This record gives sequence, structure tokens and C-alpha cells, in this order.
Amino acid sequence: MTGKGNQSPPPKNPSALEAAREILLQSNNIVFLGGAGVSTESGIPDFRSEDGIYSQSFAYLPETVLSRSFFLRHPDVFYDFYRQRCLLPMLTSLPNPAHLKLAQWEKEGRLRAVVTQNIDDLHQKAGSQNVLQLHGTVYRNQCLTCWREHSLEEVLKMEGPARCTCGGLIHPGIVLFEEALDEKVMAKAIEYIRTADVLLVAGSSMSVYPAAGLVDYYSGHRLILINKDISGIDRQADIILRGKVGEILGAM
Ligand code: NAD
Repeated sequence: MTGKGNQSPPPKNPSALEAAREILLQSNNIVFLGGAGVSTESGIPDFRSEDGIYSQSFAYLPETVLSRSFFLRHPDVFYDFYRQRCLLPMLTSLPNPAHLKLAQWEKEGRLRAVVTQNIDDLHQKAGSQNVLQLHGTVYRNQCLTCWREHSLEEVLKMEGPARCTCGGLIHPGIVLFEEALDEKVMAKAIEYIRTADVLLVAGSSMSVYPAAGLVDYYSGHRLILINKDISGIDRQADIILRGKVGEILGAM
């Protein structure tokens, strides 16, 4: 594994794609940091693309509905939005070539960790073992009163706000706006990124904090960014590949 100190600048290859491919194929310490754009090719809408959840009309802004205070005040509206807009597209989705390639690289000993803002478990379904889910998962849900755990199937069968047999409100296994991220998961993510040889960032607007701030812990010169649109970290990237992450990684 190498850190910044003994890295030479990326090779001057004719194309960004070739340069990225060469760097990725030579490394045994890649860390991946991804967001909702990694799963759009699996049929799950992201937030900020043209056809993302933010572009769909709803009485409230998604970040309002998906906040802790709104969830506690209006669990009925929250669960209506959460089931329709977030959960339903995830039920039928399958890993795409991006998820599969990252799992393959991990098996080959080249990728050390997947750090994801996604809540859909598609990296695990593709076979990735070391997945750090910064924003939790839709598959584990917990009663706010008795702390009993509930599966996604149980939550989906309920109508209106999901409630435990004790009567308590069930909190979805995701981190809502206004809630803190799991400190242990965050600390592990920082350590992987801090010691990464290559940081591969993809499918994220890099505008949701503290996840977006994680790139600041990387001090190497091999930050490869794959994104359809401009992101919040374009200026920090050493190589930018503009396009679909599934298509690009799938062809590597
Ligand atoms: P975002 O919606 O803010 O940004 C997504 C980015 O990905 C955009 O810049 C878009 O241009 C890009 N993109 C979309 N499809 C792409 C593709 N096929 N290839 C390359 N780039 C693509 O998403 P975010 O930055 O992850 O932040 C939003 C939050 O939404 C996160 O906290 C995440 O937890 C949550 N979220 C998760 C899911 C999921 O689990 N699949 C879905 C929607 C939202």
C-alpha cells in the first residue's frame, strides 16, 4: 500500500479513461466513495439528476420530509413518501456493472473498502464484503420505544406510519436529515480514505455533508471522479470521467 509520500503523479496518458484504467489496474489499495448515482443504472432514482426525486412534485421538499423533526411530527406523510419514492424502486433493483466490478476488485485484493451514501444494499448484493454505509440501510428498522428490530418486509406490509406491536413508531434504518452519522462507521471511512492509494469517487453530487467532506482526508494524487454532471469536488479530482459509472467501470 502506498500513501501520498511515495506517489508519482499520474502517467501522462493520451486519454483520461486510459490513465484512470492504468492507475486502477495497478493499485492494490483502491477505496471507493459513492452515492445515489451508482444505483441509477439499477433503476433507483437519485436526488439531484434531471429525473431524480427532487424533480418529482410532492407537497414538501424531499429533505424536509426525510428530516427527523418532520418524521416525528408527520409520520403518516413521511411513510407515504418513503414507501413510494424510496422503497418501491429498490424492491426490484439488481446490482449493475459498477457494483459488480467493485466486488470483483475486492475479491482480487485490489479494493479495500466501499464507502457509500446509499441505503439500498446493492453493493452487498453484488458480493462486496467491506461496505461502510454512511447513511444506513433500508433493511434494518427499529422501534423507537422498545428497540425491537423490524425487517423491510414487515414495514412494507404495514399501512400508514410503521408501528411496532408495542405501539411505538418504527424508525427506518436510514440516517435522516438532522441526525448524526454513526461515529464508528465514519471513523473507519476516514481511516480507509486517509490511507488509500487511489480514491475513486462516483455517482454523487458531493453536496451532502459530512459525507462530501470525506475526500478532504485523502492526500494522494490519484483521485478519480466518475460522474454524469459537475460535482462539488471536481476541482479536487486528478482525473474526471464524465459519464455513467456502470458503463465506465463495467468496461474496465
Ligand atoms: P445526488 O442525487 O445528490 O447526486 C447524484 C449524482 O450522481 C449527480 O451528480 C448525478 O449527475 C450523478 N449520476 C446519476 N446517475 C449517474 C450514473 N449512472 N453515472 C454517473 N453519475 C451519475 O446523490 P448523493 O450525492 O448520493 O446524495 C444524496 C443522498 O441521497 C445520499 O445521502 C443518499 O443516501 C441518498 N439516496 C440514496 C439512494 C440509494 O440508496 N440508491 C437513492 C437516492 C438518494
